[in-house]
Amino acid sequence: MQPKYKRILLKLSGEALMGNQSHGFDPFNAAIIEQYANDIKEIVNTGAQVAIVIGGGNIYRGLNEKESGIERAHGDYMGMLATMINGMAMQAMLEKIGVYTRLQSAIKMEQIAEPYIRRRAMRHLEKGRVVIFGAGTGNPYFTTDTAGSLRAIEIQADVILKGTRVDGIYTADPEKDPTATKYENITFQECILKGLKVMDMTAFTLCMENKLPIIVFDMNKPGNLMKVVKGEKVGTLVS
Ligand code: UDP
Repeated sequence: MQPKYKRILLKLSGEALMGNQSHGFDPFNAAIIEQYANDIKEIVNTGAQVAIVIGGGNIYRGLNEKESGIERAHGDYMGMLATMINGMAMQAMLEKIGVYTRLQSAIKMEQIAEPYIRRRAMRHLEKGRVVIFGAGTGNPYFTTDTAGSLRAIEIQADVILKGTRVDGIYTADPEKDPTATKYENITFQECILKGLKVMDMTAFTLCMENKLPIIVFDMNKPGNLMKVVKGEKVGTLVS
């Protein structure tokens, strides 16, 4: 089977890794990481080249300076470290099932990860290794969605796949409005005109300006990732 998308950047949110639990000392739901790893293995086996950016929201977010009493930039660095913990968890699970991986960090931590080097990352991808990009962009005041868009453009990915807990972009919040309907396709312009929030503005603008399509889909449904990569109508395509 030829995948529709040859090189993909998969953006996973940290919060999704928690499953249903809300917070606390156990930020991971092992069953979810295992499911993600299995789904990723499946698409790697089709010949797709896979890079991953993972969020850190299940462990720490720098945003709430008021509540935490921790200065924003300082908290953001803590958030970036959180993404490394998630990246290592994902790496461990992938390697356990026989998928070769490399973890690259935007902040130097040589004992556990390679530094982010674009050309090296691309070489790993060509060799069939899954590359996990940790520590976001390495800068405070950004999000991992922005890190995902940035890395996707840098490595010339065909698409950015935003794996979430919802199955696409809706006309309104489906949890609040029962009449909300899902878009199968939508343009960047329409998203802006309709005020639909796909990613934060920085991340969204990067994709739009560089004509990088985004697919928002439900990653917690096993097999969905494969469908997206095959080009089946799953989730919402923004282009
Ligand atoms: N972060 C940052 N710069 C980046 C990426 C992330 O400062 O380039 C910090 C920021 O504090 C953010 C946290 O890391 O709140 C976790 O990332 P994010 O909230 O994007 O994770 P997700 O919502 O995907 O779980």
